[in-house]
Amino acid sequence: MVGSGPNGLTAAIVLAKAGLRTTVFEAQPTIGGGARSAELTLPGFVHDVCSAVHPLAVSSPAFARLPLAEHGLEWIQPPLPLAHPLDGGSAAVMAMPLEETCARLGPDGAAYRRAISPLVRHWRDLVPMIQGPLLRVPAHPWLLARFGALSFWPAAPLAQRVFRTDAARALFAGIAAHSVMSLDALGSAAFGWLLAAAGHAVGWPIPRGGSQAIANALASYFKSLGGRIVAGHSIESLGELADASLVLCDVTPRQFLAIAGNRLPDRFNRQLESYRYGPGVFKVDWALSAPIPWQAAECSRAGTVHVGGSLDEIAASEGSLSGATPSGHPFVLVVQPSLFDSSRAPAGRHTAWAYCHVPHASTVDMTDRIESQIERFAPGFRACILARHSMSPADLERHNANLVGGDITGGAQDLRQLVLRPTRLLYRTPLNGVYLCSSSTPPGGAVHGMCGFHASHAALRARNLH
Ligand SMILES: Cc1cc2nc3c(=O)[nH]c(=O)nc-3n(C[C@H](O)[C@H](O)[C@H](O)COP(=O)(O)OP(=O)(O)OC[C@H]3O[C@@H](n4cnc5c(N)ncnc54)[C@H](O)[C@@H]3O)c2cc1C
Repeated sequence: MVGSGPNGLTAAIVLAKAGLRTTVFEAQPTIGGGARSAELTLPGFVHDVCSAVHPLAVSSPAFARLPLAEHGLEWIQPPLPLAHPLDGGSAAVMAMPLEETCARLGPDGAAYRRAISPLVRHWRDLVPMIQGPLLRVPAHPWLLARFGALSFWPAAPLAQRVFRTDAARALFAGIAAHSVMSLDALGSAAFGWLLAAAGHAVGWPIPRGGSQAIANALASYFKSLGGRIVAGHSIESLGELADASLVLCDVTPRQFLAIAGNRLPDRFNRQLESYRYGPGVFKVDWALSAPIPWQAAECSRAGTVHVGGSLDEIAASEGSLSGATPSGHPFVLVVQPSLFDSSRAPAGRHTAWAYCHVPHASTVDMTDRIESQIERFAPGFRACILARHSMSPADLERHNANLVGGDITGGAQDLRQLVLRPTRLLYRTPLNGVYLCSSSTPPGGAVHGMCGFHASHAALRARNLH
């Protein structure tokens, strides 16, 4: 196994459970890829370097089969999954109970309930259909058709048609912006419905101790099966793994091209070269002397806070991603783990995590713009900052080579690349026994391990080891 991200570790577990002697090589000194935590600011302040909130991990059919709780993973549900402050001191809210959210959405409650309640009720049937290759016969065609009919549309015009209030429109736009797509792009609504349905079905939980706890639990279980992990060892060529009967690569196409060297047929080479990466992110972590002083009280009860104002503002920010210049008023995703997990900061102190989307490989320092957006809805925020740590797209890529140009989803997640990801071979490559298993394969980005799960099962099937 090349790489110890959530997909690499999940795939390694599947192989080890099948009885194969399995070794994971990780380039960085610590394991976990996008699920790592570290003291980025001051001693005693634990920050999630990449992922922080995990609706898709708690929904994952792959993780559900693993005894991760026995290996130290504990989920915390903040009182509210999401709050979205608005100018004037109010906030739109996604509460875990669907009915509470509908009541808070007032005149838009009925439309929200009509759209989303079948997805929430049938969440456990929906997830396996969308957390895998999309070109398969669905187990529940009507449910997938319903999700598809809601999802196909661009998020911004859809929200304007479905909802009447600015609050509901802004709330939906913020959730849909997790797509890292223009909200005018076809398919951008999918992420809005998916993550909102997850919020009601399973919440948007955080792991106690940070996202490193997910990687540690996976690694601990893998080792209990006899697996071996070698950290601080970058695989530069497939030649280094010539003795292995199977090689699974938790890397994106660009690194795979380098590792494979001249072993790949020209046609596959060209297909991987034409794989497109998406916009980047600019991230800031803070050590704080006090909780963020949100004007709207609901924001202090929410694990995640979407900071960006109205639908039009969020759409403008996300619309700028295909250009060269990031937005002056970016849409900012804020997570405040220490409010709900005392292990993240010394007593009485707090951490906060935030990022905004920026054009691919942007070099603009967004720290001040991000802080200004938070200050807009939480006057006095800057006065609480004890220390900060910023990461540009280039810094993120240095931290993890999979974050090409700051792209956190392993490649653009538009309709084409969600179906044929990264090529029509999906996990397979033309090389015998060599597979791809990162978020550059279906179902794509986020911590869920499903890319690794499907890739490892494909590898075992091909060897009749299933
Ligand atoms: C800032 C940020 C915020 C995010 N927020 C969330 C969130 O809140 N919730 C969520 O679900 N997801 C989030 N994500 C996305 C999530 O982290 C990724 O989708 C997920 O980690 C992908 O898992 P993976 O196993 O495919 O790859 P990765 O986690 O990227 O792991 C790949 C691993 O392979 C290693 N590697 C690469 N090349 C080599 C080589 N040649 N030799 C050996 N090792 C190699 C890397 O060092 C890395 O450890 C976020 C990501 C970022 C960057």
